[in-house]
Amino acid sequence: MEYRQLGRTEEKVSVIGMGCWGLGLSRGTDEWARGLGLSRNSDDWAREVSSLRRGIELGMNLIDTAERYSSGRSEELVGEAIKDCREDVFIATKVAPPNLRYDAVIRACKDSIRRLGVSHVDLYQIHWPDPGVPIKETMSAMEKLVHDGLVRYIGVSNFSVSETDAARAALAKNEIASNQVEYALTNRSVEADILPYCVKEKITLMAYSPLAHGHIARSIPADILQRYDVTPAQAMLNWVTRNEQVVAIPKAGNIKHQEENASSIAVRFSAADYEKMSKS
Ligand code: NAP
Repeated sequence: MEYRQLGRTEEKVSVIGMGCWGLGLSRGTDEWARGLGLSRNSDDWAREVSSLRRGIELGMNLIDTAERYSSGRSEELVGEAIKDCREDVFIATKVAPPNLRYDAVIRACKDSIRRLGVSHVDLYQIHWPDPGVPIKETMSAMEKLVHDGLVRYIGVSNFSVSETDAARAALAKNEIASNQVEYALTNRSVEADILPYCVKEKITLMAYSPLAHGHIARSIPADILQRYDVTPAQAMLNWVTRNEQVVAIPKAGNIKHQEENASSIAVRFSAADYEKMSKS
């Protein structure tokens, strides 16, 4: 596994991490499943825990979840997967609107910590910006959490360049370590402004849905797949992390996919082949 520095911190996170959207759903209610368009199966919980544990064994230390995912069950599932190896992993979770007021941020973080069964969260991210709440108020709460040792680093998600600038300006003592945004071979909109901004400002771009929600690209040139002996999913992950400022968090609910994702960057492609993929 390859590791990269998180933002301007000294922290090293795996270039391929593990996304946890939709995990833990099997212990939720049928309403959640229906609302999310997902099916539930009582064996899912154990399979998903095993998948995360296998990823950790393979060196994927970055785990991304959120209070919103499966209404907290995703955090509980992560907690179970990491209970014997907390020191080996880097836990990123998120606070969502409507919890961006000062007191609500503090409460939400403590709830996440309880569900995860940990003493602190490594990266606490604002899931989505909320123009109805002053960013200064949210960031004051985030800094209080850092001050109290409940959070190590602060991140944002789905923030534009101007929203990221405003978030940075609202922080008194800390920096924004990362911006988690959608980025895949099949969705490259961040390349226009957010990616160059992150590179310039040394903010990690955490690429979500890097496998296009499972709609694996069919257009990748066969000679590239053959030359590097990779599957199309591996090629997508290799391509999306070709920039030093990017890490990716694919979601894999089973061990086979987790292993495939973990080995996706074993060999780096040539610049010409990345370019060829970009044009595919
Ligand atoms: P994704 O990672 O692009 O795709 C996940 C899908 O790809 C699943 O159906 C998975 O199937 C399949 N898959 C995984 N590895 C594969 C492989 N090697 N070959 C073929 N298929 C494979 O989609 P995502 O879950 O939307 O995004 C990933 C993570 O990003 C989320 O879990 C979450 O942590 C984060 N996210 C954040 C936001 C945000 O607003 N901040 C929004 C969306 C997502 P199996 O599960 O069966 O393995």
